[in-house]
Amino acid sequence: MRLILLGPPGAGKGTQAKRLEDLYGLKQLSTGDMLRAEISSNSDLGKKVESILAAGDLVSDDIMVEMIAHRITKPDCEKGFILDGFPRTVAQAESLDDMLENHKLNLNAVIEMQVNEEELYSRVQKRAEEDGTRADDNVEIMKNRMDVYRKQTAPIIPYYLDKTMLKVVDGMQSIDDVASAIDMILKID
Ligand code: ADP
Repeated sequence: MRLILLGPPGAGKGTQAKRLEDLYGLKQLSTGDMLRAEISSNSDLGKKVESILAAGDLVSDDIMVEMIAHRITKPDCEKGFILDGFPRTVAQAESLDDMLENHKLNLNAVIEMQVNEEELYSRVQKRAEEDGTRADDNVEIMKNRMDVYRKQTAPIIPYYLDKTMLKVVDGMQSIDDVASAIDMILKID
């Protein structure tokens, strides 16, 4: 099973992706986590992207496409994967289609998690207070991340709607209820 979890920052994509990984052996591919790991290890790529992440802007499509292209064919993705944070632009979505086609792989679903803006701000603020390790978890940067989401990422919603792949989940529900809604979409019970 191969899925995309889509939604604004704070929508709960990571939480649901981790659950799907633990329960069903699908590999969570979080591009945000991958980039933060590059930054922590002080790699050349990490140095290049650090200020971009801190500002809440997007890393270039070329870098991101290469990062994912290398990952989806690894053995740990054999049972399937959950893309969390990719694609984030229409160009990335198009490149993903090419990659999948080249490897004769299909996508089972694109799940959009909908959460209202007020709730997103409050979740990110809570995460900043509890965790405090992410440079982009603060109100100022969150405004930019929301802007970037609206302008650059939201256009991929009609892209997948046109392909009749888009499913929508109410992300305002409890974590368990969101999980059940996703299971229903995937017909896992
Ligand atoms: P969020 O919790 O805001 O959804 P992520 O952890 O998924 O954030 O990503 C954090 C940051 O990493 C983004 O704000 C962006 O700078 C960078 N990033 C992650 N995925 C991508 C991508 N597919 N394209 C461009 N930049 C990305």
